[in-house]
Amino acid sequence: MASATSLSFRAGAAGASRVTAPAATRRAARKTRAAPTVRAHGPGGGVHLDPNESIAPSRAPKGVAGAAILDRDDGPERERKNVYVETYGCQMNVNDSEVMLSVLKDRGYDETGDMHDADVILVNTCAIRDKAEAKIWQRLAYFKSLRRKKKKSEKPVVGVLGCMAERLKTQLLEADQLADLVAGPDAYRDLPNLIEAVAGTGEKAMNVQLSVEETYADIIPVRKEGAHAAFVTIMRGCDNACAFCIVPYTRGRERSRDPASIEYEVRLLSEQGVKEVTLLGQNVNSYAYQEGETDFLSMLASGEGAVGDAAAGEGQAGAGGDGDGAGVMSAEVAAATAAGGSPFSGYAAGFSSRYAPERRREGAVQFAALLDRVAAIDPEMRVRFTSPHPKDFPDEVLEVIARRPNVCNCLHMPAQSGSTATLERMARGYTREAYLTLIDRVKEIIPGCAITTDIISGFCGETEEDHADTVSLMKAVGYEQAFMFAYSERDGTSAARHQEDDVPEDVKQRRLAEVIDAFRTTAAERQKEEVGRTHLVLVEGPSKKNERELTGKTDSAKWAVFADTPVGIYGGDEDEERTGGEKGVATPRAGEYVAVRVTGCSTGTLFGECLGRTTLTAFNEMHGGAYAEAKGTGAVAAAR
Ligand code: SAM
Ligand code: SF4
Repeated sequence: MASATSLSFRAGAAGASRVTAPAATRRAARKTRAAPTVRAHGPGGGVHLDPNESIAPSRAPKGVAGAAILDRDDGPERERKNVYVETYGCQMNVNDSEVMLSVLKDRGYDETGDMHDADVILVNTCAIRDKAEAKIWQRLAYFKSLRRKKKKSEKPVVGVLGCMAERLKTQLLEADQLADLVAGPDAYRDLPNLIEAVAGTGEKAMNVQLSVEETYADIIPVRKEGAHAAFVTIMRGCDNACAFCIVPYTRGRERSRDPASIEYEVRLLSEQGVKEVTLLGQNVNSYAYQEGETDFLSMLASGEGAVGDAAAGEGQAGAGGDGDGAGVMSAEVAAATAAGGSPFSGYAAGFSSRYAPERRREGAVQFAALLDRVAAIDPEMRVRFTSPHPKDFPDEVLEVIARRPNVCNCLHMPAQSGSTATLERMARGYTREAYLTLIDRVKEIIPGCAITTDIISGFCGETEEDHADTVSLMKAVGYEQAFMFAYSERDGTSAARHQEDDVPEDVKQRRLAEVIDAFRTTAAERQKEEVGRTHLVLVEGPSKKNERELTGKTDSAKWAVFADTPVGIYGGDEDEERTGGEKGVATPRAGEYVAVRVTGCSTGTLFGECLGRTTLTAFNEMHGGAYAEAKGTGAVAAAR
């Protein structure tokens, strides 16, 4: 190794990427600066958070980060450099990469799609399963081979970011010179400083401090131009301690983002023509924000735009409002929201966590209220969210989904297992029965709601009987989609420390195959029921397989494929509905809604005939839901 690892995190280095209005800038930087919560190193480089540690936010020294920003603003203009980013893992990682690009753009870096042309190569990583990490090690070896071919002055800086960085820390710097810098998920503001510290010096740099406050609330992510769907992160971290899961150790404590900043960002997206937002969080529906924690709106009122938001000016300062909305909110949610928070309603019936349920919730803006506020911004914009925990689905959340036509009727309900005994060993906080009762409640409050899940096969101590319970759960619920995994032990988790990974690999794989098979069988039956239905589809663009076909997603997040031919308007009078309409005939474009009648299906895709271009509101007025049953059956499904 060329040099000893040097940590380049230092006072003032975590510079928030703001450029104007020093007072507000200092305030924003102080409020979001990373504060350490890491207490001890676990086996294999894992890091454990002390469960007894206070969750009160720790404040960074006043003014330090602001001073660094002022220095930077006054400095000479630098030559712009190219950064190449590769992202692995979940949607949160995709959105995190957009956040880091925003930070870097502000400090003189442009994104390139060509790694050969890059001054900096960043790999945003996932640590959830061993396989995910194995892939990243291979990529790092490949980047090393690229570097070898370049002159010393042209060698790109290689950085490992995100969850694997947080988990392995110095191991990544020590391993065969594969990386120059390592930055955890709460250290993206510090990236420009880390890069500068290592570029051309042969030094190594690392910032893996976890924060109890960082939400990147003031950073507008750099998104693909013209995209019609966007991710918006609303909370970070996870306070659950599912025995198998590394997330609490790599992502830190739960913290929620100021709702005003979320509404601001969603409003900007709406103005840019984005038609679908997905609210993100490791435990998204655990969202709880105590009003007054930060001061996003007064920051805006002082005349600043958010980072990465060149177009946003004072005109946006009122963006904390409720859009069309208060009239559509339930009186209870509206009253509580006006008062700054919501009454606390607890977890879904039969669910628990290691914390008292009211912790940090009473008087806070909770997920139901936030979802309502976001949905009110643009009734033509679909709203989705992931990844939720089933415990955080009290009736209030289900009622908002049922009431708001633009909140998609598609819920991810990660079960993990269908066996109460396994769920207990996983420390999930519910039984099979409680989970099934919740599913019934969803079906009652949101008729026609699509339900999806995550399943782990072969967790510690899983018996054949436990496994059979999971197979039967797959059949009982009838999931529309499922993400199914063989258990992968992660160093540092409670399962790795206290339970034995005792299901042999071949048994794990056999059980996984049986779970997949059970899912496929019921999903195929459900797919057949789709034939004849008419769905509201948001067009994404040409199909990859056939350029003369278009693809798009239904409200239930299924792919639909249909011919790329001109159609009229759908949603007018009866004649137009039948004929596809004469007025406004045109080929549907990406970002438009169309009505598609399903004529056939494969396991994962619906094939159909496009009946016409429409709007979310018109379709809903016509059918009272996001899809309609075949004519003649008399039933209209997904009624709201
Ligand atoms: N917060 C969500 C919840 O409570 O269910 C899950 C998010 S987790 C980041 C994504 C999924 O990865 C989990 O639902 C689980 O199925 C899977 N997963 C997590 N740890 C795993 C492990 N050690 N082995 C296999 N799969 C795992
Ligand atoms: Fe992991 Fe989800 Fe459990 Fe949190 S709630 S520990 S993210 S599985």
